[in-house]
Amino acid sequence: MTHRVDKSKCFYCGGCVSLCPVMALVLVETNVVCDESKCTKCGICVKGCPARAIKVE
Ligand code: SF4
Ligand code: SF4
Repeated sequence: MTHRVDKSKCFYCGGCVSLCPVMALVLVETNVVCDESKCTKCGICVKGCPARAIKVE
């Protein structure tokens, strides 16, 4: 399972970073980076992204 952010949709609002309960996401310039070792695949960021840019596959 991996965490993917569609860069053509993401507008770097940082919402997913704030929503993640285990602080697995970091916004680094124009990339949302996920620490897969922390991510529990809860899907909160997927549902919360206003641009529907995130997929957990
Ligand atoms: S919530 Fe969506 S649009 Fe905002 S930074 Fe995260 S992936 Fe990008
Ligand atoms: S799926 Fe859940 S744990 Fe993983 S990055 Fe998104 S909000 Fe965080």
